[in-house]
Amino acid sequence: MEAEIEPGAGRAEPAGSCPVVPPHQSLRAAWDISEPHGGCEEAGDKPIGPRRWLHELLGQLRRWLEQQGGGVPKDRRFPLAGRDESPPTPPTGYQPLERVAVTTGVLQTLFDEYELHRRSDRGHEETGWVLLGWREEREAVVRATIPAGAGREAGEAHIRFSSTVQAAATRFVRQHDRRLTMLGVVHTHPGSLRHPSDGDYRGDIEWVGQLRGREGVFGIGTADRKQSEGDTEITQPRSNMLTRGSLCFSWYSLCEGDRNYRRVPLTVVDGPDLAAPLRPAWEVLEDHASRIERLAFQQARLRFDILPRGLALTVPLVEGPALQALMTKEGVRYLLTHGGEAWSAECREPRVDCGVYQLLANWASEENT
Ligand SMILES: [Zn+2]
Repeated sequence: MEAEIEPGAGRAEPAGSCPVVPPHQSLRAAWDISEPHGGCEEAGDKPIGPRRWLHELLGQLRRWLEQQGGGVPKDRRFPLAGRDESPPTPPTGYQPLERVAVTTGVLQTLFDEYELHRRSDRGHEETGWVLLGWREEREAVVRATIPAGAGREAGEAHIRFSSTVQAAATRFVRQHDRRLTMLGVVHTHPGSLRHPSDGDYRGDIEWVGQLRGREGVFGIGTADRKQSEGDTEITQPRSNMLTRGSLCFSWYSLCEGDRNYRRVPLTVVDGPDLAAPLRPAWEVLEDHASRIERLAFQQARLRFDILPRGLALTVPLVEGPALQALMTKEGVRYLLTHGGEAWSAECREPRVDCGVYQLLANWASEENT
């Protein structure tokens, strides 16, 4: 059974199993939380145990972070990747989509990854991507693709995305562009049906009302086009269709309450796929996604960074220092950073959420002795 720490429940793993380097003198000052918390071992007060201290400390951290504008998203309904953590925008400003713009980077991802998928041992299954981008008044601009994930459930006629890894991926991508929102999904059909199926409709109509403008963008990929010699360029034979080689993506929109999908014209614009930098770290993200999500719901204002071979997660502490977890295929390393300096913790806890809370507990306990 996996150990979990729920600060609000007052239940914690015993501290002390994870040795750390001694905090720098400046950190001791930084850890001196000025807000009275009633539990400190001062004259006349009862001593406080490490668990209680952690509980108090985390409570204060959470309150402080909330005062700084952080907050825990409440809406966890499907689709997780589409959960909008920014202040809600009144939907009244949105008109039905007149066109969809797709960046060149996004198109390259879709065609390249569809080709790779077809050559893989799961090539007979459907695959797909969540689309992130900007929802303008009458236009959607697709700027990032999030893969369905290795944990997807798929067959020849269905696909269910791995929503946890997609939610975690969306956090990394949205951090640099808070305008990004979920616009819709692309999925593939093994045959030649270039339109969403009746089954697709029954699923999509259930959640499309959660998207901005209460309208979604849907792409269908097929590999049914007769390939011409040297046909490696992207072409647009119809206003809602883009092709490359034997591959074809047909695009539609669906509004809440619609009885069917509507063909939507496409334009191609220069630009990257903003989620492309995540691809080299994708396996690492898959390994840690559920624990990253758990931490993100418990700790507001986490910061996420993409490293050349992994991911970094930063937990800001009170008044300056930060705890950083560096995740690679080799494992998880933990650092305490402050004022441009970093101290490496000897903790090797592979479960990133457990490691973060163990270190917080250890440091809190150390400060209390
Ligand atoms: Zn389908």
